[in-house]
Amino acid sequence: MSGITLLLAQALIYFGVMAFLFRLRHVMGLGAFLCALGVMHFLETYLAAVFFIQLPFGLLSPGSTVLFSGKLAIILLFYIREDAETVRQPIYGLLVGNFLMVALVLTLRLYGSPVALPGYNPDLVLIDQMGALMIWGTTLLFIDSIALILLYEKLHRLMPRSTMLRACLTLAVILTFDQICFFTGLHAVTGTPWDALFGGWVAKMGAAVVYSALMGLYLLLFERSTQELAPQPLADIFYKLTYRHKYEDLLGKSGHDALTGALTRERFDTVAPALATRAAATRKPLSLAILDVDHFKSINDRYGHVTGDEVLRRVVECLRSEIRSEDRIFRYGGEEFVILCENMPHNAALAYAERMRVAVHGTLSREFAAAPTVSIGVATYPDDAASVRDLLIHADAHLYEAKRLGRDRVVGNAGELRKAPAG
Ligand code: GH3
Ligand code: MG
Ligand code: MG
Repeated sequence: MSGITLLLAQALIYFGVMAFLFRLRHVMGLGAFLCALGVMHFLETYLAAVFFIQLPFGLLSPGSTVLFSGKLAIILLFYIREDAETVRQPIYGLLVGNFLMVALVLTLRLYGSPVALPGYNPDLVLIDQMGALMIWGTTLLFIDSIALILLYEKLHRLMPRSTMLRACLTLAVILTFDQICFFTGLHAVTGTPWDALFGGWVAKMGAAVVYSALMGLYLLLFERSTQELAPQPLADIFYKLTYRHKYEDLLGKSGHDALTGALTRERFDTVAPALATRAAATRKPLSLAILDVDHFKSINDRYGHVTGDEVLRRVVECLRSEIRSEDRIFRYGGEEFVILCENMPHNAALAYAERMRVAVHGTLSREFAAAPTVSIGVATYPDDAASVRDLLIHADAHLYEAKRLGRDRVVGNAGELRKAPAG
């Protein structure tokens, strides 16, 4: 078989199996897919260093081209279908796992020469070389993966339509960077001749084209209905990929709104997609209620902003006493709040929202002359929307309808909820 046919066949098998596992993630859980991705590292460095395949025009490709390029392609596919918070898990897992492997081998090397057995010839130089290359390759893979996602997002803005073209360009740029860096290390460690640099690059460019085509086909055939996440600021994605927002939460820098103590809108942007991913994985409904204080501007105008602020604080306190411990309240805008309820179907969420409406008005009408009321729109994932963004749009449309019908009410999919009797 010619070198090219062989690599193509290998790429098809690689992508076929990995995409199949990925497709089954909601049935099998992500673990199966992630473990498979992790162990695919085995022998890759060895193949990159010592196994070369002859391509046309006298070019040489390392035996690891399909494995390595495939891993980046699969990480990109993973990001496209999930989000930064999910994809960072294998990125860090691969980094730590590979470093751990090298550390364990180094520990074993303290033993000196292994016991000689007839017919076996342990190659210690090779083991040491592979260790050095694994450290270099793994560090590069980490940088590649983060750069891959940031570049893909950057291109998202420039060419919002073609996922396939964007994936192809991204893979080509990152694989070029990787080839130059990894090969320099390979040359330094094993003295591989520089001619192989170009051959490996050509093979990786071929891989970028083949994998992005396969990815496009996969998305078209199997995940057409789910939309890509709306582009997010690059800094946010970078923070998520590097766990920086967790660090800032730890320092108490972000997360809670100073006036009401509700979670911030920024937190909504990170928490909501993660909850939606979990809802999809566990096949449980996630309900979202968006609540807006009615005629709040006139409360400010008539009673002053200090009273207005106090109303907002009390609204959140009332909501808090109504929700379950696992539900989350976000201050989405000035006098708008979003409540996210995991594992709650639409009808239950409507009843729940109605309880909130009654509780807020009941309490606040005793405390404030303005007797504030609230309007609430409810929507449920995944029945009403395939993404958090659409879920919010859906609930917001219901809120708008509640306002239009005269405020102080809850609206869901079946229209306005019949109000509970007063008192
Ligand atoms: P509607 O029933 O249609 O929602 O009318 P509304 O007056 O509540 O709506 P609108 O969005 O016009 O007014 C919201 C007001 O909320 C305007 C803004 O000044 C006020 N606001 C936003 N944030 C705060 C805040 O932190 N404190 C106070 N006191 N007022 C705020
Ligand atoms: Mg408003
Ligand atoms: Mg309002």
